Amino acid sequence: MVRSGLNYVNRHILFFVNKFIFVSGGVCSSLGKGVAASSLGALLECRGLNVCMVKCDPYINVDAGTMSPFQHGEVYVTDDGAETDLDLGNYARFTSSPLSRANSITTGQVYEAVIRKEREGRFLGRTVQVIPHITDEIKSRITAVARETPDTDVVIVEIGGTVGDIESIPFLEAARQMIHECGRSNALSVHLTLIPEVAGGELKTKPTQHSVKAMQEMGIQPDILICRAPDMLDDANRRKIALFCNVESDAVFTSYHVDTTIYEIPLIFFNQKLDLVALRKLGIESRHADLDAWQSVMDRLRAPQGNVRIGLVGKYTELHDAYKSVYEALFHAGLENGVTVELVKIDSSILEEPSGEEGALDGYKVDGLLIPGGFGQRGIYGMVNAARWARKAKTPYFGICLGMQIMVIEWGRDVLGWADADSTEFNRDTGHPVISLLEEQEDVVNYGGTMRLGKSESVLEPDTLIFAAYGGLRIFERHRHRYEFSNAYREEMTESGLKLAAFTPDGLLVECVQWPDHPWGLGVQFHPEYKSKPTAAHPLFRDFIAAAKARMEGVNANAE
Ligand code: GLN
Repeated sequence: MVRSGLNYVNRHILFFVNKFIFVSGGVCSSLGKGVAASSLGALLECRGLNVCMVKCDPYINVDAGTMSPFQHGEVYVTDDGAETDLDLGNYARFTSSPLSRANSITTGQVYEAVIRKEREGRFLGRTVQVIPHITDEIKSRITAVARETPDTDVVIVEIGGTVGDIESIPFLEAARQMIHECGRSNALSVHLTLIPEVAGGELKTKPTQHSVKAMQEMGIQPDILICRAPDMLDDANRRKIALFCNVESDAVFTSYHVDTTIYEIPLIFFNQKLDLVALRKLGIESRHADLDAWQSVMDRLRAPQGNVRIGLVGKYTELHDAYKSVYEALFHAGLENGVTVELVKIDSSILEEPSGEEGALDGYKVDGLLIPGGFGQRGIYGMVNAARWARKAKTPYFGICLGMQIMVIEWGRDVLGWADADSTEFNRDTGHPVISLLEEQEDVVNYGGTMRLGKSESVLEPDTLIFAAYGGLRIFERHRHRYEFSNAYREEMTESGLKLAAFTPDGLLVECVQWPDHPWGLGVQFHPEYKSKPTAAHPLFRDFIAAAKARMEGVNANAE
């Protein structure tokens, strides 16, 4: 463990300082700050350090739970049930940072806490202001994360937004104060900017100079610059940026465009010695770096033995970020199976007409079909048609949360002959509510009617696909849903052949269903995608892609 050995008093908090790295961004948004912060975290872990990743989001929403996936991308759920920004998903895929509610700090949470304290009279009549009260709250939340994970060597704090935004100011001011209080050898500023290319292929450094100037106006001198550029910056450009931005010339790095995968970024930064410069500036002795796991990701990516086409049927297919963790988990599973996963994004609403047509998906030529989580009625019956197609065409199918509920609705309609089988989320008056709220289910009284959120245990039935995937009886996965398999239909569902493959430990809730007489047709009520990593694919995604690969090879063999 690395400690600065410096104790300091911050108003009433006395604490032992960790090392902090504040990652900010300038020029424009979407520069890949989250990936840059995560990649730096990954490199520090490769050198044996423990990192803790924290995201500061300047929006006023208290959490991402209510934000539209169309606008903001997916909601990432932590073990303790926090609904957070998708950047935490990047942290989880690149690093082993502990991630809980405390690792996601929003303006909404900060103001809510300060206003609550004010109402409780805890400010003793003082005027409550952005500085120091809001900034103190931000600082105390950042240091609380560090304190809660005592083995942490380096806390990497990503500040959302772009320098110059009104909303980010309190977070940057809190960072400035912490850098000042901890001392420069204990807290660094890493700033990400854009180097655009203008006509004639010339790279322009001026926006970076302006962005650093904006940081300096906030009182923060960046220690390290990471420049997003089409190609590796040459020495002359790096020296120019260093000179005009007041940073050391070996502290200007390039995050150039890669067309392989974001998982190459740690290696790109390693080759430029980003981690060594960060360690030197933090006064941490450099240790041996073991990058085998990241190297192996790239080796496997470069030698695929085939291509599987996976159809993803959902309502948010236009925005890639809306199903981010699912797409990433499919990619990881492709690596593990030595194949490239080609995504075929299918908007479920276009499958609603003509309803129930069996050849609906033939033209897409997919080797596997996945229906991810979702809320609301739009496009639901297109998903039911898609599931029916996969069941009958014996195409591997993976249903996640809503995708499992769709399997149950489809089974009720087609196999049990209940044309109105539905979830009460979509039709409250259905005569066959095969999916419903727990409070609508008479025999389940000890669960509330609210969202099931966060990590919980499931017990797997032997001789099922899910048991084969995990290779054990008990698993822990994360949930985010309100509706459940209706226990009133258990008997009819199982007698007609649907397998119930996992339950909560008390046996009350169904966690997984499996189609009979099908190569791989599985639905889970939880969200396995949150736990998949490029260096370790999730077992369910791994087996789904293995089944799709087997089908692809069978189809190819028949075609020969
Ligand atoms: N809308 C469904 C429910 O609330 C499924 C949610 C999900 O897929 N995350 O139960």
